[in-house]
Amino acid sequence: MTNSTHIPRKRFGQNFLHDQNVIANILASLYAKPDQHWVEIGPGQGALTLPLLKKSVALDVIELDRDLVTLLRNKLNAWPSLTIHSADALKFDFSKLARSSGKFHVVGNLPYNISTPLLFHLLSYSAYIVDMHFMLQKEVVDRICSEPGSKKYGRLSVMMQYYCAAECLFEVYPESFDPPPQVTSAIIRLIPHEKPPVNIKDLSDFNKVVAQAFSQRRKTLRNSVKTLLSESDLIHLGIDPSVRAETLALDDFAKMSNRLTEISI
Ligand code: SAM
Repeated sequence: MTNSTHIPRKRFGQNFLHDQNVIANILASLYAKPDQHWVEIGPGQGALTLPLLKKSVALDVIELDRDLVTLLRNKLNAWPSLTIHSADALKFDFSKLARSSGKFHVVGNLPYNISTPLLFHLLSYSAYIVDMHFMLQKEVVDRICSEPGSKKYGRLSVMMQYYCAAECLFEVYPESFDPPPQVTSAIIRLIPHEKPPVNIKDLSDFNKVVAQAFSQRRKTLRNSVKTLLSESDLIHLGIDPSVRAETLALDDFAKMSNRLTEISI
């Protein structure tokens, strides 16, 4: 149960894990090995932190709530392998954690209110990251992992799949947390690609095309991207202008993005 000295703060997305089976399942899926370098986002009261430390990893944790930072410092001060950063993960410079040993692993039961911007912030450091395991709302995990043709396939799926291989591991029900969230959660494994699966000439054009294509899901592509690409551009790329964005593969978005770059030069 929640430590009686700390009242969970909704604005920090605090839903603390207390189900020991779920904690054990998460730990088992991490495959953490001694001497690896791990980074935990939002350690809270240490539900995942302590079992990770027991795996003899070097661990950096980033916590926004200063009361929890104090609580963790008191509770875990016997662990020299732990470094606690009192900071906002959304603004944190993760490159400063990369040591001579190279890349690190990331884990977190993320505050749901900031999970998408946090994922994008982390993706900008993907060169430093071996893998990421996160607890997210199941609906967000489904969106990240979905394939073209699915109703859940959208901007988040395309952008995340450009950067990472994504796998939904298992669901976690509200009663495993204190306080219980309104929704079911799931654990996702994200492994940044060594080499992008498609060649994108300009990432900001890619962002633009994907955002525009999904801005009105029900519109055909010819209408949704018309401010960026003409119907003849689409035909020239071998893309049917009468389809909707949700049917297109990553490769189609890459083609549209590279065409936009070509005509913007
Ligand atoms: N890991 C703990 C657990 O599983 O019980 C806590 C998880 S709780 C869902 C999310 C944690 O992230 C809280 O401790 C919260 O204070 C922290 N947090 C919220 N926003 C944050 C931010 N921007 N940067 C770092 N930590 C944040």
